[in-house]
Amino acid sequence: MIIDNLLNKDNLNKEELVYLLGCEGEEKTKLFTKAAEVKAKYIGRKVYFRGLIEMSNICRKNCLYCGIRSGNTNVHRYNLTDDEVIEAAKFAWENRYGSIAIQTGEVSTKEFVDRIENLLDKINKATNHELGITLSLGEQTEETYRRWFNKGAIRYLLRIEASNRELYAKLHPNDKHHDFDERLECLRALRRVGYQVGTGVMIGLPFQTLEHLADDLLWMQEIDVDMVGMGPYVEHPDTPLYQYRDKLLPLTERFNLALKMTALLRILMKDINIAAPTALQAIDPLGREKAIKVGANIVMPNITPGAYRNDYKLYENKPCTDDAADDCKNCLEARIQLTGDEIGYGEHGNSRHFYRRRNDTTI
Ligand code: SAH
Ligand code: SF4
Repeated sequence: MIIDNLLNKDNLNKEELVYLLGCEGEEKTKLFTKAAEVKAKYIGRKVYFRGLIEMSNICRKNCLYCGIRSGNTNVHRYNLTDDEVIEAAKFAWENRYGSIAIQTGEVSTKEFVDRIENLLDKINKATNHELGITLSLGEQTEETYRRWFNKGAIRYLLRIEASNRELYAKLHPNDKHHDFDERLECLRALRRVGYQVGTGVMIGLPFQTLEHLADDLLWMQEIDVDMVGMGPYVEHPDTPLYQYRDKLLPLTERFNLALKMTALLRILMKDINIAAPTALQAIDPLGREKAIKVGANIVMPNITPGAYRNDYKLYENKPCTDDAADDCKNCLEARIQLTGDEIGYGEHGNSRHFYRRRNDTTI
């Protein structure tokens, strides 16, 4: 069978990836089994937590797909206080999550940059410097990335969203604040500074083809990322892209593609960290568990204080917006146990790929 040969190859080309992205039935089962084997062999059957703190939904950008874009006046804008962020970080630390991820809309004022710098200090003091801190705060200058790195942030997540320049342009306003080359340059700057660099794409976007997705996978391989967070595009009614909702793949199909992308990425990049994105769970209640079974090894339990979660709506049907952090922890623990994987409590769970590319053996 073609599939057996393909899955035993060392490298897959675009045509082969397109074929695999379209496979179903027995072939798909083989793809998923192979991805699970690669994960077990290269990084082990362990899942690490990143307690997700959605610190603010204030954003200067206007991405055409995103519910908290600056042009959406229906959003109640919020900004957590430092104490609220520190409390959430302490919750993660006390519950031995190992890591947190701080995410916001994009803001690049001096006040914001200074605030994050101070906040990193405060979080590290409050948690005995034991948490691995990921930032996902959009495009910033190299100097800003360096200042935050020097205060102890070790990972940075900046999705390219779509690695094809023309597709990227269709998803963003045509102005200097939404420039593809600028985003690429930010990813290079993050790497120069020394972060574990994460990126990713949305899957099932309007105008997107299987060829685009195959190219996304090859692009992530080429830029040699350390971590990836990618998930299905889920439309939001208060966004310009909503007008194309009738042209989209059905949600279940986007979900299916996202699982195949995860499995293929695991086969291509054996020792990187791959997150099981929350957007999967917006479509299927068992979405994240399914991603863990086909190669993902990171989950991001939401630890944003409950009162604000409803306001950080990037897309429709966002799960767990009504739960308190404790509920999320308990439900996730039970769910992960069902996959047969172990949770790496109290460990950073850093990207092995990052250490390997730096010829470093200390993980
Ligand atoms: N402002 C930062 C981080 C917050 S947005 C940034 O843009 O980098 C985090 C991610 O949410 C984005 O990278 C995007 O991939 C995802 N996102 C936004 N709108 C979405 C939608 N409608 N469906 C699925 N994911 C979406
Ligand atoms: Fe802002 Fe990020 Fe949403 Fe774009 S994707 S509008 S930068 S929060």
